[in-house]
Amino acid sequence: MEQSRKLFIGGNWKSNGDLEFVKSHTAFLNSVEFDANKVEVAVSPIFIHLPAVLSSIDSRYIVSSQNVSMFDNGAYTGEISAKQLKDLGVNWTLIGHSERRQYFGENEEVISQKLKIALDNGMNVIACIGEKLSERDAGHTIQVVSNQVKTLVGSISDWNKVVIAYEPVWAIGTGVTATKEQAQEVHAEIRKLLASTVSEEVAKQVRIIYGGSVTEKNANELITQTDIDGFLVGGASLKSGFKTIIESYKAKNN
Ligand code: PEP
Repeated sequence: MEQSRKLFIGGNWKSNGDLEFVKSHTAFLNSVEFDANKVEVAVSPIFIHLPAVLSSIDSRYIVSSQNVSMFDNGAYTGEISAKQLKDLGVNWTLIGHSERRQYFGENEEVISQKLKIALDNGMNVIACIGEKLSERDAGHTIQVVSNQVKTLVGSISDWNKVVIAYEPVWAIGTGVTATKEQAQEVHAEIRKLLASTVSEEVAKQVRIIYGGSVTEKNANELITQTDIDGFLVGGASLKSGFKTIIESYKAKNN
């Protein structure tokens, strides 16, 4: 089967680094060779590092924020709006990362509001979903993920601007990666659900990427799965091994 979905590999830098790191890591990334026709590569630094990344990383890379306000400009102290990100030249944002859900109380309502406002302002979104360990252990993975997808579906006006990141919470930052079979199973279910709730066309075209302890050691194996269209990478995106993860697009054989 021909792979019509362009692969997508994102690096979520989380709340790490300083300006010295930005300088050296963007110089490193600029030296990595990849075929931008085959894979889109994104990096997500903290808000205040966005200008430095934008001015030092080369144009093959997508620069994404890690978060966006659920509100428009206005009296929302400490928030950064989609409009302000766009004004800076940032056209992508992460939404719904499990750390935002866990530590900042973001629920489905907040996430769908953020998704909506980002899309309304013409931004592209990497929307993160995934079950907790207790939910997996209870056999509720597909149900939990399906409910999260249904929430997203209600807020998406333009599917061309959305990448879905399936990130099982138990695999994020733990060193425990989903097996390729576990990840493939959930990705396939998400696609099936999109086919029935949105359209066959959207189900076929939307990129579903995997996140959760992806490293240079497991990327090649995971990416061979039919419904895995790339990765969202946390810890390993801060290191030189990210080069090998980017290069995993070559292992995709369809
Ligand atoms: C993430 O932050 O989205 C993530 C998947 O982290 P890690 O790769 O460190 O598990």
